[in-house]
Amino acid sequence: MDFKRIKELSSRNYMNVFSRQNICFTHGEGNRLFDTYGKEYIDFVSGIGVNCLGYNNPDLTKAISEQASKLIHSSNLYYNREQAILSEKMLGGTIFSKMFMANSGAEANECAIKLVRKHYNKRGQNRPTIITAQGSFHGRTLATLTATGQESHYKIYSPLVPGFKHVPYGDLNALREALTDDVGAIMLEVIQSRSFVRPANYDYLVGAYALCRSKDVLFILDEIQTGMGRTGKMFAFEHYGLQPDIVTVAKGMGGGVPVSAVLARGEVAEAFAVGDHGSTLSGNQLACAAATVVVDKLRGGLIEDIADKGDYLAGKLARLRKYKFIIDVRGMGLLQSVELSEKLNGNYIAAQLLQAGILVNITKKNVIRLLPPYTITKEEIDTFAEKLEEIFRNTNV
Ligand SMILES: *Cc1c(COP(=O)(O)O)cnc(C)c1O
Repeated sequence: MDFKRIKELSSRNYMNVFSRQNICFTHGEGNRLFDTYGKEYIDFVSGIGVNCLGYNNPDLTKAISEQASKLIHSSNLYYNREQAILSEKMLGGTIFSKMFMANSGAEANECAIKLVRKHYNKRGQNRPTIITAQGSFHGRTLATLTATGQESHYKIYSPLVPGFKHVPYGDLNALREALTDDVGAIMLEVIQSRSFVRPANYDYLVGAYALCRSKDVLFILDEIQTGMGRTGKMFAFEHYGLQPDIVTVAKGMGGGVPVSAVLARGEVAEAFAVGDHGSTLSGNQLACAAATVVVDKLRGGLIEDIADKGDYLAGKLARLRKYKFIIDVRGMGLLQSVELSEKLNGNYIAAQLLQAGILVNITKKNVIRLLPPYTITKEEIDTFAEKLEEIFRNTNV
């Protein structure tokens, strides 16, 4: 099927919610993607941080195909060997004592929200409210949409789910003032990256954590994007030396297979009882086999490799600060960003990179967000950085 026909069918048959780039990929190899015309691209998007092992990774492909030939799904009516293996590996070496699996980031957050409510219900306390930050992103189910502190996202879907309060991100006083008796948890991202890529200030995140501890309020971190090694640690909170009660992960977890998880510790980890929560598709054998490969690789040296290549990429980007239309360069590990002056159109820069065979993601019209596969090489980073510099050299504002 040619590209024209693919576009035709998509616009006719598929609900029109996505603003898609004028391109369709047919396959990938390593850190490269190939489109319907056979053109090759170095990937600095990885399907929004999902394809963390790149394309056709031999170990991942093998594990998925072998598992597919044995058993893809048996449901949670029965015990599941692959789930047992994965859960032991996921929790091993972490502060968490229990996990639950879901199929998407939003669902993992939804589960975390329910877990908090169940926890206080079990304690006989009326503390359903969860504080989240403005500018956050937690998903698109009704509850996670409500949790998401971006009005433009939720106005059209009212009435929303009660029990959420939004405070400015980075403002510890606002957080303190919002901590009324009905609050059961604070939920934050370690790096807000929906629009700007904004790592939490150290004093802010640690302060929020201390506030939770002093008020016996649960501390939830949404690491759907920053978890599973993305920042050069298994979880981004490890850079801050704190211990959340609940963390959610998803994007890179299955290397492209839809899978997510909630990890919890202490009393809240034990809150759910039989029947309190569930999911038909979640944690099936195929998803677990894929996630096991990702976890094994992360713990087998890949995390250190991400940190090293992340520093390398950040170093290359820092050199671009000399251009006066660069407002800032921010990120951690292999989640990096370049914020351009609002006078510049990021999409125009991205189009030139695309022409040169490099994929990047633009958020907020003027932020270049980089989420390469963990397998990206320093040579590929060099190619990208040189091309970007060349484009900047020829850019006039
Ligand atoms: C992507 C993302 C989500 C939502 O994940 P979905 O799989 O799209 O439901 C939630 N929170 C954060 C921080 C994310 O980056």
